[in-house]
Amino acid sequence: MRTLAVIGGGAAGVFCAAALDGKNIRSEIFDAAEFPLQKVRQTGGGRCNFTNSRIVSSANFGEFYPRGANNMRKLVSKFDVDACRKAFERFGVRSKVEPDGRVFPESDSADFLADKLINAACQSGARFHQKARAVSLKKHFDGFVVAFADGSEFFADCVLVACGGVWNPQLKMSLENLGHGFAPFAPSLFAMSLAEAGSPAWAELSGLSMPNVQIGVKIGKKNFSARGDILFAHFGISGPATLALSAFAALELLEAKYSADLFLRLFPDMPEGRISKEVEALRNKRGASKIKNVSVLGIPSAAWLYLLKRAGINPDSLCSEIPGDAAKSLRRLLSEISLRITGKPPHKGEFVTCGGIERKSIDFSTMESRLVKNLYFAGECIDIDGITGGFNLHAAWATGAAAGGSLIEQFL
Ligand SMILES: Cc1cc2nc3c(=O)[nH]c(=O)nc-3n(C[C@H](O)[C@H](O)[C@H](O)COP(=O)(O)OP(=O)(O)OC[C@H]3O[C@@H](n4cnc5c(N)ncnc54)[C@H](O)[C@@H]3O)c2cc1C
Repeated sequence: MRTLAVIGGGAAGVFCAAALDGKNIRSEIFDAAEFPLQKVRQTGGGRCNFTNSRIVSSANFGEFYPRGANNMRKLVSKFDVDACRKAFERFGVRSKVEPDGRVFPESDSADFLADKLINAACQSGARFHQKARAVSLKKHFDGFVVAFADGSEFFADCVLVACGGVWNPQLKMSLENLGHGFAPFAPSLFAMSLAEAGSPAWAELSGLSMPNVQIGVKIGKKNFSARGDILFAHFGISGPATLALSAFAALELLEAKYSADLFLRLFPDMPEGRISKEVEALRNKRGASKIKNVSVLGIPSAAWLYLLKRAGINPDSLCSEIPGDAAKSLRRLLSEISLRITGKPPHKGEFVTCGGIERKSIDFSTMESRLVKNLYFAGECIDIDGITGGFNLHAAWATGAAAGGSLIEQFL
């Protein structure tokens, strides 16, 4: 019987342990936290959005994974959304697909999924060691020695590093000593504070959600944009499109200290001419109505009031009274709203870390290190991250499954 030391009892580590057959290799899971799968229990607002129906081989992975799209394509050829749902069904977790493609357990309970996953790992012979913070990993003859913060050590034939996105500095250094490089770290999937959020006009918008909006930033010579639902909040903006933009521009926004110009297009597919016509019709045909009581293009009244105030138009004035320069401003705002990002509000978003173990040092058919035999990686500790919608957990399960499958084959 071989021993696998799993560093990290999170999504990737426990899934790998559950994927083992418990015959020729047994996993010992060492987790720094008080109980395993602590983060999984908080995912999807406590419901756990654990995969997405768009994770199929034919997908455009660049849309979902700002870093690691090609590696994910390779992993998904063996572990797609169906394989993922079937694996969880075997563990006792039936699932459902929401209209937008997000997949949740039928129970809508992240705790339920976490408990079933732990149970499956135990049935595969896994043993859990909590409050066990690994601080170093060294080669020892044919195997490894893992050292812990309390001074204890563990000898293992193979090691799976699955410690998530937050690295213990000493553990990180010991991997560097084994030759592994790290891609730079940056937070990803966050909401954005905006300078305009302090203005009285913005107060109208807070709490409003708008579909299919395009937002983008230009940082240096690089342009980034994302489309989808946006949520206006008292501090700025959030929602799937904002989080996706934060993921694609994660490194550049960090470098710019979260200070950048942002554009927002409420009608990204509408030609300028159509917008101009709408504003002209407003002035001509509805001249006798108060402008705050009419709106163009079905804009919700909160957003309409904001646009009027930003264009310098008194909402109580009549449509026929809109001065020419104010009508021009309104037209410009309907095409594109310019805003200024001033920061990243704490605790607003899903939050994952981009960066980590360099992908080129890993064989993605086995998840084994290309530099050190019998050393494996899975989950967020690798330089792979996705947008919101179940893509990050899928990456954790897919890498864990690949590592588990190759360990079984190796020690048959
Ligand atoms: C609030 C929140 C909500 C989220 N919701 C979703 C969602 O709905 N869908 C989705 O796809 N993604 C979601 N995510 C992201 C997702 O949770 C992560 O991508 C995923 O958990 C990564 O799995 P992992 O196993 O790599 O890391 P983790 O799940 O973070 O597990 C790492 C484990 O390693 C342990 N550890 C760390 N260092 C050491 C050490 N030195 N020694 C021993 N143990 C160590 C930690 O205690 C932890 O248990 C969410 C994240 C957050 C924060």
